Amino acid sequence: MKNPPDKNPASLAKLRYGKKYSFNAKHNKDVPLETWFQYSSEGLILFVVFYTQACRWSQCLGCNLPSTSSREHIDFEALMRQIDQVFRDSKVLSKRRLIRKVIVSNNGSVLDEATFSSTALIYLIAKMNLLLPNLEIVSLETRAEYVDMEELEFLSRVLKEGKTPTILELAVGVEAFDDQVRQKIFRKGLPLEVLEQLAKKIAPFGYHLKCYFMQKPVPKMSDAEAVDDVRKGIDYLSEISLKYRLSINMHLNPTFVARGTSLEEEFLNGRYTPPSLRDVLKAVLHAEGKPLSVYVGLYDEHLAVKGGSFIRKGDAPLIKRLEHFNRTQNYRCLRKSLT
Ligand code: SF4
Repeated sequence: MKNPPDKNPASLAKLRYGKKYSFNAKHNKDVPLETWFQYSSEGLILFVVFYTQACRWSQCLGCNLPSTSSREHIDFEALMRQIDQVFRDSKVLSKRRLIRKVIVSNNGSVLDEATFSSTALIYLIAKMNLLLPNLEIVSLETRAEYVDMEELEFLSRVLKEGKTPTILELAVGVEAFDDQVRQKIFRKGLPLEVLEQLAKKIAPFGYHLKCYFMQKPVPKMSDAEAVDDVRKGIDYLSEISLKYRLSINMHLNPTFVARGTSLEEEFLNGRYTPPSLRDVLKAVLHAEGKPLSVYVGLYDEHLAVKGGSFIRKGDAPLIKRLEHFNRTQNYRCLRKSLT
């Protein structure tokens, strides 16, 4: 069931959950927050983050994504101007025939129509159908409670009208496998049963599922426990993939220390250190031979505090290996980095 409309829940969360960041009032509402390209085994990906009203959940422990968003509602006309801006960008236009996948984000939930207008979403799909002739997948970032099957069917039908058949993917933040960590400490508000119900519902339509996980998302988790949690997540998603014949990608984000969150306090008091990329690699290797793909997120969107990144001095060769892995899913190369 969808959340009831709530005019300004992000500000409530700020008071209730000890978040200390402020919202982003300075951003031009006619311009998206950010666009960048990723290279994965699925081909060239365009990642777009739109500037909208902040995530209405806004409770997750280490997350300061709402600080990039507006406290106020952004109407559909402004959002449509953001979309126009994306497709006027010379970098996007020069690569438009190469783009195979678009990930649509508003640093919250694109399917929450209270923050992301449905008119704008349809307009975005129309633009993609017109301008991206080789688009194969459109991924919509959302919390699970905003998924409405009738809406997905409609969106999927519209997408099929493009020049190539385009599949819909739902990208959902799971963050941790362990129930206690995910629900009680991180405050994700996503029981695994809800994720599994979603998997069961979307599988017959051939949609894909992308699950965001974080390595070491909370304090008081040792590095070894963090590796173990990702491995259990890999096993769990593999099971779901086989059970429902569903294509799943795990997007693994090594945790960075986000400004204005309680993780920052723990970090400054010496009670938290981000995971090492070597440990990330150890966790990812567990997916070899499993029926899912893995993408390792290596970008902190400039939201980490000083010294709070998972990237350390001397990590350049490992980053290269992980980027190569993201493009190829070649585990042999990864294994070499551990020897
Ligand atoms: S992780 Fe996602 S759902 Fe949780 S507060 Fe951040 S943006 Fe909202």
